[in-house]
Order: sequence, then structure tokens, then C-alpha cells
Amino acid sequence: MAAPGPALGLLDIDGTLTTPQQKITKEMDDFLQKVRQKIKIGEVGRLDFEEVQEQLGNDVHVWS
Ligand SMILES: [Mg+2]
Repeated sequence: MAAPGPALGLLDIDGTLTTPQQKITKEMDDFLQKVRQKIKIGEVGRLDFEEVQEQLGNDVHVWS
């Protein structure tokens, strides 16, 4: 059983959320928007921020 409290999902982009080096599909974007209503999600990978924005759009943020 999961512990109660906030959840964080960390996802790979290339080859997972998108075809490598391509923009996210509308279907995947719609799915992620629904997931974002439930938990925080973040990207784990080798892409720099500009590449993340190119693939996922400008509605991404840097956590520090
Ligand atoms: Mg990958």
C-alpha cells in the first residue's frame, strides 16, 4: 500500500513520452494534463531545458 501524501512521477521523454527528438503527440499531452491534476510530474534524462520545451511545449518549469 502506498504511503499517503503528495506523489511525484518522474518520466523519461525520448522514447517514452515522445518519439526520440520529436514533439509530444496531442494524445500524450492530453494524458499528461490529466495526470498533472493528480500528481506532480517531472522529466529525468539528458535533455537540456530548451530541448524539453521543444518537445513538450512551453508549459514546463525548472525546479530548483
Ligand atoms: Mg529515453
